[in-house]
Amino acid sequence: MTNQYSDALERVINDVVAPRAAAVDAEATFPAEAAAALGQSGILGLMSASEVGGGGLGLAEAAEVIEKLAGTCGSTAMVVLMHYAAASVIEAEGPRDVRREIAGGGHLSTLAFSEAGSRSHFWAPTSTATVTEGGALTDGGAGSVRLDARKSWITAAAAADSYVWSSRPLAAPGPMTLWLVHPDAAGLTVAGGFDGLGLRGNGSVPVTAEGVVVSSDAMLGADGAGLDVAMVTALPTFLVLSAAFSLGLMEAVTAEASAHLSTTRLEHLNQTLVQQLSPRLDLARLRVTTDTVRAFLADTLSALATGRADAMLRVLEVKAVAGEAAARVTDTAMKVCGGAAFRKELGIERRMRDSLAARVMAPTTDALYDFVGRAISGLNLLGDPDVAS
Ligand SMILES: Cc1cc2nc3c(=O)[nH]c(=O)nc-3n(C[C@H](O)[C@H](O)[C@H](O)COP(=O)(O)OP(=O)(O)OC[C@H]3O[C@@H](n4cnc5c(N)ncnc54)[C@H](O)[C@@H]3O)c2cc1C
Repeated sequence: MTNQYSDALERVINDVVAPRAAAVDAEATFPAEAAAALGQSGILGLMSASEVGGGGLGLAEAAEVIEKLAGTCGSTAMVVLMHYAAASVIEAEGPRDVRREIAGGGHLSTLAFSEAGSRSHFWAPTSTATVTEGGALTDGGAGSVRLDARKSWITAAAAADSYVWSSRPLAAPGPMTLWLVHPDAAGLTVAGGFDGLGLRGNGSVPVTAEGVVVSSDAMLGADGAGLDVAMVTALPTFLVLSAAFSLGLMEAVTAEASAHLSTTRLEHLNQTLVQQLSPRLDLARLRVTTDTVRAFLADTLSALATGRADAMLRVLEVKAVAGEAAARVTDTAMKVCGGAAFRKELGIERRMRDSLAARVMAPTTDALYDFVGRAISGLNLLGDPDVAS
């Protein structure tokens, strides 16, 4: 990341994100000030092309942003992560004016994939898109389309300026079509708040669409091609950044555990906790696991950057590797820091709760193991595991 971005990020983290992180968690409040400050500082437009006014940077730099934010405030990091994933679709297929808004930092987007009907199987939306009565699509011209859906989780649902929205296709074969939907569209209902175990400020709530009318121009990519678009934009972005998110949590708890063990004393022995063998071994486990995940993430980014043959396999692996490691690392940190970790003062219990989201966020850990198993066995990635032709 250039100095311009890393200095700006550090400023926002120190001035806005860190001072509010504990309250965002305790009160389950959406980190609106952090999102605004990250927009103003250019961080939200970091991955946008320079030709629309963005930073022109890539996944490696976005991963640094997410890692640093996650170590400070998981909720803020998840909001930015979902924004980058949605923005990657808009960069590839969206209108220039929205791309410019995102590049300028004045537009927060998010993914509206998960549905009440197909749950974590985001690749199989049950929601519909139909041509409205009298809205027939003209040859090369725009018509109007009706969207109906029960979206189950949309991060930043009440604060976002757009949703990258999946539905079944209008008419084409294929599992999915993508749309750019504005949250103030008539017929959209954002339902309730979010009272979760972790990421308590991420504002992920259900959204219902009943007869939401959008222009056919709102389609992102071709009808029926939504999954193909997602597979080369949102999915790799989400999986790699999710790994960076888990890494940020691991770095934070490793540093917190190290500081605690080095400064907390057993007075009767005149020793610190880290001078005891068992805590020292646990601390080493935290460091080794965190370093292993960092190396795996770096290898994934390198495979993507150089177009290595195993790049897609690494992408399918990296979120599961990092997400499960983060669950183990935060659990070990909870144990080794004892009662101090059980209370809120070290921030370790918050990181532990935040870390558990990764394994259930789609593609979930088990879905990714299934994909990896299929990929290395020559089977179709999705649907019936017939041998791929
Ligand atoms: C904090 C948070 C924020 C989120 N934000 C968003 C968002 O912005 N946009 C969005 O679209 N979604 C979002 N989600 C939703 C998320 O991506 C998943 O869709 C959701 O967490 C899945 O939960 P579920 O109970 O529906 O899972 P279920 O589908 O009920 O799965 C339950 C368990 O069964 C396993 N399972 C089910 N089917 C399979 C299978 N075929 N192979 C292997 N394992 C399987 C899963 O791995 C999982 O462990 C968010 C979720 C969380 C927790």
